[in-house]
Amino acid sequence: MARVMIVGAGGVGNVVAHKCAALAEFDEILLASRTVDKCQRIAERIGSNKVKTAALDADNVNDTITLIQQFCPDILINVALPYQDLVLMDACLATGTDYLDTANYEPPDVAKFEYSWQWAYGDRYQQAGITAILGCGFDPGVTGVFTAYALKHHFDEIHYLDIVDCNAGNHGQAFATNFNPEINIREITQPGKYYQQGEWIEVPALSIHRPISYPEIGPKESYLLYHEELESLVKHIATLKRARFWMTFSQSYINHLQVLQNLGLTRIDPVDYEGTPVVPLKFLKSLLPEPSSLAENYTGQTSIGCHIRGIKDGKERTYYIYNNCDHAQAYQEVGSQAISYTTGVPAVIGALMVVKGMWKQPGVFNVEQCNPDPFMQLLGPLGLPWQELIDQPSPFQEN
Ligand code: NDP
Repeated sequence: MARVMIVGAGGVGNVVAHKCAALAEFDEILLASRTVDKCQRIAERIGSNKVKTAALDADNVNDTITLIQQFCPDILINVALPYQDLVLMDACLATGTDYLDTANYEPPDVAKFEYSWQWAYGDRYQQAGITAILGCGFDPGVTGVFTAYALKHHFDEIHYLDIVDCNAGNHGQAFATNFNPEINIREITQPGKYYQQGEWIEVPALSIHRPISYPEIGPKESYLLYHEELESLVKHIATLKRARFWMTFSQSYINHLQVLQNLGLTRIDPVDYEGTPVVPLKFLKSLLPEPSSLAENYTGQTSIGCHIRGIKDGKERTYYIYNNCDHAQAYQEVGSQAISYTTGVPAVIGALMVVKGMWKQPGVFNVEQCNPDPFMQLLGPLGLPWQELIDQPSPFQEN
């Protein structure tokens, strides 16, 4: 039996709270977030006396430490925003609490996606004898576990990795983002970047794209993006010759984004509006639908997976492993859309891995450094079944 503290009551926090409440392993759950009403609404929907709620501004380290000391969780699941990662890691360090998140730290004033700040906690977590698991959503998260599983069971060496992320769903809005709009737009509008033969190659945002076929969905235009798991996977899988990340966007989404960019509404530096400093992207976020509000009428599926090529027993091998997730089914089960669902379920499995001891080791880890097998065994039963295709033609045959 374990106590879990969840920070963040958005789309992902809702899934994490529902799934933790349904598991016998977690007997006490504290859902804490900036707006306590959102925590209370989630707790009411779950309707279990295991779930308690609290107001918390996780930018304040002392308040966070106090709340952790009052509740004494075995693990803290951070599904607030990446800006809170370091404060929450500090608070876990100060209280000897294990930590898990789904997105790497970003400084609010620069759109910079890298693990350096969080990896820098490695020695201190090791000395304190506590565990931090970084990036345990779907991508990053399951994509790293899929890659580790492929290496363990199907390859002697992995050479080429293409992570593909398709949302073929329809939420009926003219323009909306599927997770926090500020974080999402910062990610998509930065330059594209991929790894090839020991170098990082940077290209203008959304400039490389191609149709890629997704299971049960068919071909969808997919855009090369930089995504944070590329950094850790390249570090931990030294045989990689190339690693890329692709995500689908509709033409309408790209057109909206271009107009917003041309107008300066995606800027993250403050501008003066009649004497008041306003960050345009934060203002834009306040106008866009909350990701959790999209769930009710969302139809269609997501499909996320890893196309991998490499060598097994001296022979070339192609391998594809993926999950498809249905928006409406996710809504029916927990009241969230599939993007939140595919992020929240892996966070809960990662937390289970730590509290049950399978991933419990002192230090700071990315998921691909942990044993993938017990995690993979729980993915299907907890709602994200996966499929693998071995030695089938790959859409990424070129070297
Ligand atoms: P939402 O914007 O829906 O929710 C974020 C929640 O965090 C809100 O409840 C918000 O509170 C709360 N929050 C923000 N600032 C603070 C603070 N200072 N103190 C306490 N709580 C705070 O986002 P999502 O649920 O969609 O995403 C959650 C996380 O999951 C993000 O970090 C996102 O990057 C990550 N993610 C990861 C994915 C993956 O596959 N790895 C995919 C999708 C998302 P309030 O309501 O007051 O604003």
